[in-house]
Amino acid sequence: MADCPVHPGEPAIGACARCGRFFCAKERILLDAKPYCGDCGARPDVDWLGHHYRALEGTRSGVAWAMGLFGLGLVLGGLTLVFTSLEHWKGAVAGFGLFLFGASAATTFVGRRALRPAMFVGAALASGAFAISAQEWVALVPAVILFLVAGAVWTDVRTRLFFRVPVPRAELLKHFHREGSNPLAITASRLAFFSLLIPGLSVLSLVLGVVALTKVNSKATPPVGNVSAALGAIIFSLFTTLIWAGWLSARL
Ligand SMILES: [Zn+2]
Ligand SMILES: [Zn+2]
Repeated sequence: MADCPVHPGEPAIGACARCGRFFCAKERILLDAKPYCGDCGARPDVDWLGHHYRALEGTRSGVAWAMGLFGLGLVLGGLTLVFTSLEHWKGAVAGFGLFLFGASAATTFVGRRALRPAMFVGAALASGAFAISAQEWVALVPAVILFLVAGAVWTDVRTRLFFRVPVPRAELLKHFHREGSNPLAITASRLAFFSLLIPGLSVLSLVLGVVALTKVNSKATPPVGNVSAALGAIIFSLFTTLIWAGWLSARL
């Protein structure tokens, strides 16, 4: 084969799936089993998945916000427990454990890669404090919960992007189909859930669910999916509307 037209001296190893030009090994980009030249592989319409997620790198995830607030709450709660149970050392030790875990959870908000394992250290120290203060197998329950929380934060895709930890493309694609695609459908399904608690909300979630369903297009770039979330929102909204209508008619 001839030389690469863009990189003289580099042998061409194939042709681009989009524009057809020859590319060399230096620039070849493989996306979803198709080879592209360096120019096409960088286009947002070709690598829409990469573009979608690169924009989220370094931006704080919902989990990071939640851990910041939850951690702060545990720090304050733990300190309160320490200072109100100074005479009962067991309570004070448990409070210190909560304080340590809270402080480690709050570091998620900062997004520094070096601090990422802190939550596991916090969970281990807090578990030790619980074991000392309770000295019973019951102390295992909060310890297991803390490790589950730490594990969930560690594996969360959006939080890994916030920490600028590389996420494999296959995992990004899975995440996109679950949460990135058709955000209206996801909003509708969340509102539908809350419509069980708030009367009238089901009308909004029903309309949003229907609009989200009309947006579904698997051929678009990027594809718009989440049919199940949109359908779920519609069905659940109808269900809560019936419940609230029944409640209202019983009162009139
Ligand atoms: Zn090309
Ligand atoms: Zn080249």
